[in-house]
Amino acid sequence: MSAREPIIRGGGPGNLPPEPPRTSEDRPEDGGDEKLRPQRLSEVIGQRAVAERLAIALAASKKRGEPLPHILFDGPPGLGKTTFATVLHNELGVELNMTSGPALDKKMDVMPYLTNAVEGSILFIDEIHRIPKTVEEFIYPVMEDFRVDVVLGEGMSARTINLPLKKFTIIGATTRSGMLSGPLRDRFHMHEHLEFYDVEDLTRIVQINASKLRTTITDEAAWELARRSRGTPRLANARLRWVRDYATARADGQIDLSIARDALAMQDIDVVGLDRQDRRYLETLIRVFRGGPTGPGALAATMSVAVDTLEEEVEPFLLRREFIMRTPRGRKATHLAYRHLGLAEPEPDLPTDLNLFDQRRLFE
Ligand code: ADP
Repeated sequence: MSAREPIIRGGGPGNLPPEPPRTSEDRPEDGGDEKLRPQRLSEVIGQRAVAERLAIALAASKKRGEPLPHILFDGPPGLGKTTFATVLHNELGVELNMTSGPALDKKMDVMPYLTNAVEGSILFIDEIHRIPKTVEEFIYPVMEDFRVDVVLGEGMSARTINLPLKKFTIIGATTRSGMLSGPLRDRFHMHEHLEFYDVEDLTRIVQINASKLRTTITDEAAWELARRSRGTPRLANARLRWVRDYATARADGQIDLSIARDALAMQDIDVVGLDRQDRRYLETLIRVFRGGPTGPGALAATMSVAVDTLEEEVEPFLLRREFIMRTPRGRKATHLAYRHLGLAEPEPDLPTDLNLFDQRRLFE
């Protein structure tokens, strides 16, 4: 998984389970992405349709004095799922607690978040597809009726008590909505899918964040960075920071087109924004598996990379750019992938009867 921000403010419940420390190559030294994250809905760039629907939900919730509906965000990492949760919490001025699926291993892990939730607050559960089935079933009544069923005692003397909870909002985020069970998905009232950003929106993000980082960047350089950031604001931020460091070390700190290009070339980021791992994926698919089709497990094993990393972080953008396609028999490289890597496309396979003909001849 890519980098995540730590639990953020909002005055969470006292006895929350500790969150594992998060690290990443993208994690910058000077304040992290937190500094660059939009705080209000008006500061959010792109994702217009999503932002408009959220504005309606916010207005309705404010007018009625009720909590927001439960919302599920899905989409590849770094597109703004956490950002939207943060923005909603700021717009409503309510408490926000953050956790993630892997941290909620047992019912007891989730309990403090539920019992300490105050009226109208938001509980953000990242990677919600990773919560175990037992925990998932445990939160169904929470999402429906704001109560938990707790079993006290064991065996014959066991009894279930209904614990009423405050009305609050669960915001779930997932990179794998297909892995979410139907019943859990149905309990979210709003489903918002985040798409990759177009170059214009990413250029705006780069320009705004350059000024937040107190660095100057020309319009062409901002556009170049945007077009090489795989449609992903988190990557645009990370690449902006790198280019800024490069400009400081090698020049006077100003980012122009040639500085941006040199800095990105030094990180092996190519003209469409693919990095070494993305290209290795395509090369492995083409050279080892003759362009596919092949399953992601075989690709991951050959590359010595976790299959989740490929499916969550590498493949979505390659699919979006049509470098690969999904077929019932696995991933297949498209002619765009061959062209991008400068490799010749193989001759189409001979028709089966011709193959048979050839094989018969071997024994004549
Ligand atoms: P996700 O939760 O989907 O993995 P984040 O919400 O953490 O992604 O986004 C990563 C970073 O990208 C944020 O810290 C923020 O700086 C930037 N970002 C994301 N979405 C937007 C947006 N719509 N407008 C401006 N910046 C954004």
